[in-house]
Amino acid sequence: MADAPRIVRDPATMRAEVIANRTAGRRIGFVPTMGALHAGHCSLVERAAAECDDVVVSVFVNPTQFGPGEDYARYPRSLEADAALVGRLGVRWIHAPLADDIYPPGAATRVVVDGPATPFEGRARPGHFTGVATVVCRLFQAVPADVAYFGAKDWQQTLVVRRMVRDLGLPIEIVVCPTVREPDGLAMSSRNAYLDPDERFRAVALFESLEAATAAWERGAEVAVIERAMRAALVARGVAVDYASIVDSETLGSPVVGREAVALVAGRVGATRLIDNRVLAGRGSSA
Ligand code: AMP
Repeated sequence: MADAPRIVRDPATMRAEVIANRTAGRRIGFVPTMGALHAGHCSLVERAAAECDDVVVSVFVNPTQFGPGEDYARYPRSLEADAALVGRLGVRWIHAPLADDIYPPGAATRVVVDGPATPFEGRARPGHFTGVATVVCRLFQAVPADVAYFGAKDWQQTLVVRRMVRDLGLPIEIVVCPTVREPDGLAMSSRNAYLDPDERFRAVALFESLEAATAAWERGAEVAVIERAMRAALVARGVAVDYASIVDSETLGSPVVGREAVALVAGRVGATRLIDNRVLAGRGSSA
């Protein structure tokens, strides 16, 4: 059996460990998370373990990516269970800093990404991606790994992180892993724990709207028609829709003939906000 992961709180200690091991020739993979780990997170860890000599998982519920009135205070926290879960996958370190370790008192620096951070989640959750980019940049200092793994579940986040890495020339490779789903299709998420049985039933509408959108896209249906159908399917199951859109998968602008697109959905089921997406193969007509 693998040794239990070492829990490292201090970012400077974490950084020294990673640098020492990279200097010794080991390839280090990094999986940043907010904890309450599930099979989606584990898929990232497994990929990292397959491609690297050592894996670091960070567990940090980042206050700056939550807006006022969002679920920061009640976000599930379960470090012991998280350590046991990823320990079985051979993770060597869990970096679990405190907020003051990541944001020294009086911290005045933020990383602001425009472009892919502007629409959709950027509009629905002002400041969210600034919080994400700032913490990821900070975590990349604490964990200067060879490669970092992110989930396609948070599609727009992957674009924001990639853009930040490119624009700032950060020396780390980004790998995006497929979304892991429950048997009925609901994308795994730490926030699914908030859903009561009725909400859990209704939450499947996000997945179902994406399934229907994919079939319609492949049949050649018009984008506006597909978007209306997605929205109607969500509303019919009592989802308060933030957006249900088909856009270019890289630019998040209008779909372009022959280029990959992505269907993006977000909405609230009761008090719980959920997002999901599906990548769509490029097709001959973008109508
Ligand atoms: P979080 O803890 O929600 O911030 O997620 C940490 C990482 O796990 C992010 O890169 C997420 O995109 C990824 N992730 C979360 N849920 C899933 C899922 N169901 N499948 C694949 N990756 C996921």
